[in-house]
Amino acid sequence: MEIIIIIGIVALLWALERGVSSFKNTPNYGERCVARKLKRLSKEYVTLNDVLLPTHYGTTQIDHIVVSPYGIFVIETKDYKGWISGHEDSEEWKQSLIGGKRFFGRSKKQYRLPNPILQNKSHTKALNAILKKIGYFPIIPIVVFSDNAELKITTPNYTVINWCDLRSTIKSYKIPILSQENVQLITSAISSANITTKGSRENHIRYVETIRKEKEEAISNGKCPRCGGHLVERKGKHGKFLGCSHFPKCRFTKNY
Ligand SMILES: [Zn+2]
Repeated sequence: MEIIIIIGIVALLWALERGVSSFKNTPNYGERCVARKLKRLSKEYVTLNDVLLPTHYGTTQIDHIVVSPYGIFVIETKDYKGWISGHEDSEEWKQSLIGGKRFFGRSKKQYRLPNPILQNKSHTKALNAILKKIGYFPIIPIVVFSDNAELKITTPNYTVINWCDLRSTIKSYKIPILSQENVQLITSAISSANITTKGSRENHIRYVETIRKEKEEAISNGKCPRCGGHLVERKGKHGKFLGCSHFPKCRFTKNY
């Protein structure tokens, strides 16, 4: 009995420390938080949550799409806390948990996360491919982190914000560019492309895992997973990193 309690406490501390979804934050906690915030937008904004779209290679899952007269917002939600650092081109970002906020009194610890800007770029591409049948529409990508995340990132060209700033960011787009008819047309095009068949989410998760493994394998063989170029060691402000031999055409980078 005691052993079960001890295991339970250790698991709880680990989950709290890591700041990702846990039994305190049941699965998809971040997505549900953001969905609630989006629900409070006025009727002009149509929100579609957890959309699974087909791509040339498989499927892509989009956390939230907001269709409005002011543009189409594609939102990627990240339920992470701590310091988040990264560059818009790098393959991975870092989550740093600092001593003081941590248990067991250990100092700073770092975890890696996939660059959410790149993830959202592939979402935008998939959405564009769906919508091109009815026209070209401006898509505004937004990456939104938990309010417990301190964002230390250099992404001048992309919107990366905390949850608390999401609605004001969306509402800062004030110029109507889409007619009510277009908003309806776009919404129904996305809804009918959304894959809802049984097992499709599970297949998507397996697909993502396969892609991740393929990328890792390419990198360990010294190949760029984006363009097949060679990976070469480079020196930057923050130390050595791997870059693609096809730079600047390909901007793949990976930290050691
Ligand atoms: Zn490359």
